[in-house]
Amino acid sequence: MAKKWMFFLDFDGTISREDVCFNMVKKFAREGWEAINRLWEEGQLSTAECAELTLELLEAGPEELEAFFKNTEIDVSFITFVNWTKGAGYPLYILSDGYDNYIKEVLHKYQLKIPYYANHLVYERGWGIKCLHTDKECKRCGVCKTELIRELLQPGYQAIYIGDGYSDICPAECCDMVFAKDQLARLCREKEIPFYHYRDFTDIQIILQNLLTNNNNTWKGIQNDQ
Ligand SMILES: [Mg+2]
Ligand SMILES: [Zn+2]
Repeated sequence: MAKKWMFFLDFDGTISREDVCFNMVKKFAREGWEAINRLWEEGQLSTAECAELTLELLEAGPEELEAFFKNTEIDVSFITFVNWTKGAGYPLYILSDGYDNYIKEVLHKYQLKIPYYANHLVYERGWGIKCLHTDKECKRCGVCKTELIRELLQPGYQAIYIGDGYSDICPAECCDMVFAKDQLARLCREKEIPFYHYRDFTDIQIILQNLLTNNNNTWKGIQNDQ
């Protein structure tokens, strides 16, 4: 029986080689952002609260940020992966608690057409965040990935999540299969969520193609660091 898979992907550090949002703050924010970021990582600040505090510290104008975003590079194995999912008819969505300002730029740069959901950076005398995909019940996310997956997942499809960071643990818990690295791998291990460890999209493609060839429906996940 053919697999019906739907892919949900984080952007920063997953598709992009580095975390664009984090690097933007590190490069352009005045002192004080690290403590704010730590509170967000600990779940004490929501994405919107964290962004509002952090963006006040940002010392860059729109042109500077635009130029910075243009330098973003992606994991090149992602392009092959996208072509593979398109060929096989697997829907793919980008769910990011970062900003669509750079996601749009990057997808355009690499000529990729993929639907994406993210927050938006606005500049009116200073920087601000517009959260367009919040969820009433979730107090944490700007873009509530879990809620979006519930909305987007079509009947009969398995949800596959691919990510690397803190904002990925909640959606990972609700998906059928998880590919994780870095912080997300650590969090999955802590919460005993089965996952495949990956380094790049080539790893993911190999694992999935193996599942197809062996017609293995009993996925239990593996937890390894190789
Ligand atoms: Mg990330
Ligand atoms: Zn949420």
